Amino acid sequence: LEPKEEFEHSSLAVDVMRPRRGDPALAVLTQDSMTVGEVETLVESTHYSGFPVVISQESQRLVGFVLRRDLLISIDNARKRQDGIVSASLVVFTEHCPAQPPEAPPPLRLRGILDLSPFTVTDHTPMDITVDIFRKLGLRQCLVTHNGLLGIITKKDILKHMAQISNRDPDSILFN
Ligand code: ADP
Repeated sequence: LEPKEEFEHSSLAVDVMRPRRGDPALAVLTQDSMTVGEVETLVESTHYSGFPVVISQESQRLVGFVLRRDLLISIDNARKRQDGIVSASLVVFTEHCPAQPPEAPPPLRLRGILDLSPFTVTDHTPMDITVDIFRKLGLRQCLVTHNGLLGIITKKDILKHMAQISNRDPDSILFN
């Protein structure tokens, strides 16, 4: 197979990532503007294993990635053991807490559970390269960006994509 042909066979990260057109938006957390209650509502209304953290809803600049499990455990622990943590407490992933009114409850600081360097590819990365990276680095998920966060690809998304390709194009040797 010539490299050129191989390229023609390959889809791009943007074709495999979620959300697909028409899907609900990517579920993201903001770095210092959501309350404990808002984070709990978002996490509990989905089944996703993790959530990208962005600067703000407006900017969508990627700050890191947090696992669902770590979020739930940390919030649960803080509510039980940390003085003053209530639904209205701000969840803060940044190093420094934003200024708050004096009567505000203490913030919940969660920078410790944030993966600050989640793996990312751009929307135009060919899927054969993305699959290779998943294999070689043993990734569970990877974020897709284009001047800011666009979507997410999980290992299962890739397996589904590979199954589709092999059904559609049994002669393709790309993903053997
Ligand atoms: P898996 O793919 O192993 O089931 P998840 O439960 O995390 O892992 O993801 C389920 C589906 O939702 C996947 O197609 C994935 O791309 C997508 N997804 C994962 N995280 C998010 C998120 N934060 N927001 C929107 N979609 C997501």
